[in-house]
Amino acid sequence: MNEPGSPPRKDNRDDEKKRQEKGRRQFRFGISYLITSLLVLWLFQLLVVAPLNRSTEIPYSEFMKNLADGRIAEVTIGERDIIGETKNPKPDGSPAVVPFDTVPAPAGDSKLIEELQNAKVTYRFERPPNPIGGFLLEYLMPLALLGGFWYLAYGRMGSGAGPGLGGIFGVGKSKAIEVKPEDITVTYKDVGGADEAIAELQEIIQFLKAPDQFAQLGGHIPKGVLLVGPPGTGKTLLAKATAGEAQVAFFETSGAEFVEMFVGVGAARVRDMFEQARKAAPAIVFIDEIDAIGQSRGGVMRLGGNDEREQTLNQLLAEIDGFKTDASAPVIIMAATNRPEVLDPALLRAGRFDRQIAIGNPDLVGRVQILRIHSKNVKLAADFDVERAARMTAGFSGADLANAMNEAALLAARHKAAAVTLNDFEAAIERVIAGSEKRSRVMNEQERTTVAYHESGHALVAELVPYGEPVSKISIVPHSRGALGYTMQMPTEDRYLLKIDELKDRIAVMLGGRAAEVVEFRTISTGATDDIMRATELARHMVTEFGMSDKLGSVRYAGQQLQYLGRSVEDNSQISPETRQVIDGEVQRLVTEQYKRAQELLAAHQPALKTLAQRLLKQETVSGSVVKEALENSPSPGLPADCAHMEESREEASG
Ligand code: ADP
Ligand code: MG
Ligand code: ZN
Repeated sequence: MNEPGSPPRKDNRDDEKKRQEKGRRQFRFGISYLITSLLVLWLFQLLVVAPLNRSTEIPYSEFMKNLADGRIAEVTIGERDIIGETKNPKPDGSPAVVPFDTVPAPAGDSKLIEELQNAKVTYRFERPPNPIGGFLLEYLMPLALLGGFWYLAYGRMGSGAGPGLGGIFGVGKSKAIEVKPEDITVTYKDVGGADEAIAELQEIIQFLKAPDQFAQLGGHIPKGVLLVGPPGTGKTLLAKATAGEAQVAFFETSGAEFVEMFVGVGAARVRDMFEQARKAAPAIVFIDEIDAIGQSRGGVMRLGGNDEREQTLNQLLAEIDGFKTDASAPVIIMAATNRPEVLDPALLRAGRFDRQIAIGNPDLVGRVQILRIHSKNVKLAADFDVERAARMTAGFSGADLANAMNEAALLAARHKAAAVTLNDFEAAIERVIAGSEKRSRVMNEQERTTVAYHESGHALVAELVPYGEPVSKISIVPHSRGALGYTMQMPTEDRYLLKIDELKDRIAVMLGGRAAEVVEFRTISTGATDDIMRATELARHMVTEFGMSDKLGSVRYAGQQLQYLGRSVEDNSQISPETRQVIDGEVQRLVTEQYKRAQELLAAHQPALKTLAQRLLKQETVSGSVVKEALENSPSPGLPADCAHMEESREEASG
């Protein structure tokens, strides 16, 4: 099966080839290195160690017999063996001297000296060996040999990859692949469904193209851009296309390439990469999967590798801080991750990766664009409806779409069709889903409808409660991390002090999703699991920490946070079982009250709920203004008495 993310495009394939070539070279090197070192060890044993031990060993009994027969000429008694010479009369009677060695009894033979004395044998004792000498010879020498060989081989490889020898034979050389501006063939025309991200990147391009002008206008010069999104949404593609648009050099590397066994190597590579980039400026440095080095320091304990990662991260931070984004050598650093939550906060601080661009799975319009891009070189049947194809693939990432189009072309080729039909594409979808281990999912119509009502419920309750934060965007495009849709709320200001009514409103909004399902379908689904968790957590905080329950009063019931094995755990041993029961009851009451309230609000505005959900089903993503429109344009039959007041505060909140 085709690997996701290798669509039939020339530039991508070249790239892929380069990577594969690199990987293969490293693999071959590893194997030949292993074989050679084993060979060297074996030869060493065979030629050096073995002859020393094995010359002419005879059994101790034979030695004793020779001694008794008077055939021993002389011996040297060592700690571990006895070596010496025997007199073996040749047939013609002249004596011949034959060397021998033998291993004495472990405890030593106390009578040996006496017998030697009696037999008049010359004997001497071996000087005890210098304890370091033997060790050096037997263990360190082969190691040193291997080490030397390793350095030579590695040094050669390093110099083969880049100009000259850097560091210690190139170990500290950056492995980033430099792509010259003229070799970058992708531009924003090759990226579909990422209009928002592209708009945000315009500033970077402006800066790279005309840094002087940019500085003159007093623009704040950007340094780092972090692209955040699920796998296959085109983060790498977007970074490269940005370099293509600006016509600057592009240094591509991945976080994992900085994570090495030896402390300091990663840091050296970071330094080297930035040095190269500055030489090639204007340039974009792209670090893919930055979470490999940028993981939060401290906190969760990890085995090994921590020092190294920390040093690498520190070096990266220093480089970002250090390079003045001066107009003469503009370098922009871009990075991508699909796990922003594990990144070290230091990376996200202002002046570093202060610009974060979220890229999600494409919505319907985006999918149409992406399918068009990837069908440029595919012969589609005349009646191939791209829009319908896009409808069938809700939840697919850009890479999944590219892959599906490729599979469709292959399928069509297999049954020797003249062009790719929608049927081929449908079959291809199934293959992609099967191949991607549930990473991408396509929801069936019923699921989509449920999610549409669920999200509409969140959004409407947020608009209807007095303290709801304004909704900025609703979407039913499945997210990679489990969420089937989302409602984004934009706080109008940072809040440090929240009133009890505001907190209650928040709970109502969280439960608005499930409430909508009940109001519309008279049944509930598992889609509210996360909502319920958050609502319960908030209610518990209100009861145990904020003192917001009349029954329990302004007393803190939350257990103490204890540090245990690097995690914080709560110690509840101070709270009596009876009190715990009351707490649970109060939490339940708070949550249930708000759930009822959300249901009532939605029941009173059911026409608006229907309108909004239908809009969502059609468009997949709508902006917050649509929520207000739906409320204004739909008649509200059973308006509660205090609704006028609510509408007023709603306007306040959004204004
Ligand atoms: P990411 O880095 O986010 O994991 P990539 O940029 O590696 O994803 O995407 C893999 C491939 O999928 C790209 O090379 C491209 O062919 C295709 N692709 C992904 N997103 C898009 C998009 N928005 N528009 C066009 N093609 C895309
Ligand atoms: Mg990528
Ligand atoms: Zn929800």
